[in-house]
Amino acid sequence: MSNPFENALSQLRRAKAVQDFPEDFLTRFSTPDREIHISIPVRMDDGSLKIFEGYRVQHNNARGPYKGGIRYHQDTDIAEVKALALWMALKCAVANIPMGGGKGGVTVNPKNLSDRELEALSRGWIQKLVDVIGPKKDVPAPDVNTNPKIMAWMVDEYGKMTGDTSGAVITGKPIDHGGSEGRGTATAQGGFYVFEALQEKLGLPEVCRVSVQGCGNAGQIAARLWEQAGHKIVAISDSRGALANQEGLDREAVIAHKEATGSLSGFAGAKEITNEELLAVPCDVLIPAALENQIRGDNADRVGAKVVFELANGPTTPEADDILFAKGILVVPDILANSGGVTVSTFEWEQNLKNEHWTEEEVFIKLKEIMEREALGIYEKSQALHTDLRRAAFSIAIERIAKAMGM
Ligand code: GLU
Repeated sequence: MSNPFENALSQLRRAKAVQDFPEDFLTRFSTPDREIHISIPVRMDDGSLKIFEGYRVQHNNARGPYKGGIRYHQDTDIAEVKALALWMALKCAVANIPMGGGKGGVTVNPKNLSDRELEALSRGWIQKLVDVIGPKKDVPAPDVNTNPKIMAWMVDEYGKMTGDTSGAVITGKPIDHGGSEGRGTATAQGGFYVFEALQEKLGLPEVCRVSVQGCGNAGQIAARLWEQAGHKIVAISDSRGALANQEGLDREAVIAHKEATGSLSGFAGAKEITNEELLAVPCDVLIPAALENQIRGDNADRVGAKVVFELANGPTTPEADDILFAKGILVVPDILANSGGVTVSTFEWEQNLKNEHWTEEEVFIKLKEIMEREALGIYEKSQALHTDLRRAAFSIAIERIAKAMGM
């Protein structure tokens, strides 16, 4: 499996090849400011004591506090968290929000934990990192397998330990714990605004056939938003398998089936395919909305889409980027496509600091304005540099961060 941090560094070098920036910047930005490993002891329900490995990587804070989610996954390791932290710094710069980049995680399959164990783990993560996080220092949020309920435990633990009950230390909280309207759907919603801003420019038809890889927060909501706008969902997957139907899937029925049975398998009215086969389904837009390293050197030539729209972080390796480019498949990069999540997180932080509560309408008006402006800016940059959207997005982000670093 390719190392995601190496991929992130390779993306930086590739961006430098199309737009020069100081070598010193590249040297400094290639190493995180801080990399913290923690061990979290949890008393399990059976009475045993288990130690979980956790991480926080603070990549760069030139533009504002470190910002980024916490991932709970059995395959999470330091290389993954480092890559995700670097991408967060770029993503916040792309969205032009006053945040730097960080990321956290725990190596755990949370599906194997009881609610009580999950709470102990989440409070334990805060106990070990209380000194390095804070509203003006480092502001965590949800990511893969973490959610508002977990954020509520975390913000409560932080408040108890420090006396700071503003809530601004963590975003993605439940609404009644100081969360923002719209945060739950913001990643997919922001992505949809980016898609609409670029749809015509990327040569996409009015009604698109869309494949969605992933059935988590981003994937499920993306399928709903694209469908509601009149597009056709022709394939969808979860971590175990996928469904396809060129006539269009009944998304609501698929989700109801998954909720009732725990899996996509056995759904009538669609062909069951593998996750690998989903990538090859003929469609206009493929939306990877799960994990990194999904489209790689060994499978990129089978991608059946006109456009890959990255709602996940790091789904396409640099090797795959070259193959897609050669095939004329355009990639809307993660640091633009999924930046709606952290943007609304930043709105949440701002509301907490000012003791305000904005309506969902206000939140989405502001989000749309940012997503459209930055999507078009990146598109124009790609035209000016004669390059792809990823290198263009990196160039814009790097200019902004380098300026903040005085380089
Ligand atoms: N985990 C999300 C991401 O990768 C959101 C981070 C945040 O809201 O801070 O962008």
